[in-house]
Amino acid sequence: MNWKNNQLENYKEVMVPNYLPANFIPKKALGSKVWDSEDKEYIDFGGGIAVNSLGHSNPELVKALKDQSEKLWHLSNFIASEGAINLGKKLTENTFADKVFFSNSGSEANETAIKIVRKFHSSINSSKTEIISFNNSFHGRSVLNISLGGTEDSSQEFSPLVENIKHAEFNDIESVKNLMSEKTAAIIIEPVQGETGIVEAKREFLQEIRSLCNEYQTSLVFDEVQSGVGRTGYLYAYMKYGVEPDILTSAKGLGGGFPIGVTLVKNELAKTLQPGSHGSTFGGNHLACAVANKVIDIVNNQDFLEEVKNKERIIRSNLEDISSKYELFSDIRSSGLWFGCDLIKDRSSFEFLDLGYEEGLILVPAGPNKVRLAPALNIEEKDILEGMDRLERVASKF
Ligand code: PLP
Repeated sequence: MNWKNNQLENYKEVMVPNYLPANFIPKKALGSKVWDSEDKEYIDFGGGIAVNSLGHSNPELVKALKDQSEKLWHLSNFIASEGAINLGKKLTENTFADKVFFSNSGSEANETAIKIVRKFHSSINSSKTEIISFNNSFHGRSVLNISLGGTEDSSQEFSPLVENIKHAEFNDIESVKNLMSEKTAAIIIEPVQGETGIVEAKREFLQEIRSLCNEYQTSLVFDEVQSGVGRTGYLYAYMKYGVEPDILTSAKGLGGGFPIGVTLVKNELAKTLQPGSHGSTFGGNHLACAVANKVIDIVNNQDFLEEVKNKERIIRSNLEDISSKYELFSDIRSSGLWFGCDLIKDRSSFEFLDLGYEEGLILVPAGPNKVRLAPALNIEEKDILEGMDRLERVASKF
C-alpha cells in the first residue's frame, strides 16, 4: 500500500463518508497550479468550485491576510471592524445595495436574505408567506436552502422541509405567473444557474420577473453566490442584464478561498433587522474582510473584467475543438470564466474527473454527467493552454 492509499484509509477512518475524494492529497499550490506530496503537478480548472478567484497563494491576498493576522483576528460584532466597514462601503458603492450583512458562506447569506424578507412582511402585517424558487436551482445545504433548491437530489431524506416554497421553471415566465399571488413574499433566483451546469437566464425573463415583483410588492432575491465577483466578466452577473434585485447574496469568490458570505440589501428591507434580530459569530471577521477587500480591489476593474471575457473566448474555442475532435460534449455553455459541458450520452462526470487527475488536471462536476470549469479569473494563458493539452489527453482516453 503506498502513502496515497494510507492517507485515504486514514480519511475513511475519521471522516463521515459524505464525500468521495480524489486519489491524491495536495501539499501546495501557486497561481493555477497544485502539487501533491509526490510533487505531481496539476493545472487547476476547478478553482475550488468557483472560489479561488485570484488563484492559489496570490501574493496580494497572502500579504493582506498576513498583515491582518499580526494585528487582530476576532472580537465580535459587538465591536465594529474597520475591514467590514471598508468592504461594506465598496460593495454598496459599486452595486444596487444600500446595506450589507456579513456571514461565512453562501448558505448563510441566503438564510439571511429569507429572514429579512420574512421579518419585513411580518413587521407590516402582510399576508405574504410564500417563496418562489426554480427547478434545477441550487442554494446551499441547510434545511432552508435544500427546501429552496430545485434539484432531484436527496432533499426529501431530510424532511420535513421548509414549507410554502414553490418551484417554477427557469426561463419560463408563464410558470412563474402561474405561481405568483398576493401571498408571494419573495422570488429567489440565480441569474446564472451554476450547479446545474451554467445556464444563463434570458434577459426578458429576468425583466419580466422584476416587473412581476414590482406589481405584487414581492422582494426579488438574486443568489449570486457562485456567479458573483467577476466570474461572469461582470462584478455581479445582474449587471450584464441591467435588472436590479432587492437583495443579493454573495460568497465563494468574494474571499478568494477565505470563507466569507454577504447579503446585500436595499434600505427599505435592511431596516427591518434591528439589534438582536439576527447574528453571526464570525460574520465580517477581520481576517475574512482583509482578504475580501483586496479581492474586490483587484476584480472591480474594467480591464480585469475584460480579460475574463477574453479568456472565456480562448477556453471556449479550445473546448469546442476538443469536443468536435473526440465527440466529447453534446453542449458547451459559458458565462465568463465559467463553463458547463454536457458529456455525450450522459457518461459519468466522475469518471472524466478521475482521468483528469491522472493527467494532472483538476475539474469539477456539475451533476452526474456534466463537467464544469471555473478556473481562477487571473489564470495565465500558458496555464490555460497546458490545461487544454491535458484535457485533450483525457478526452482521447475517455
Ligand atoms: N448558492 C449558490 C448559487 C451556490 O452555488 C452555492 C454553492 O455552491 C450556495 C448557494 C451555497 O454556498 P455555500 O456552500 O458556501 O454554503
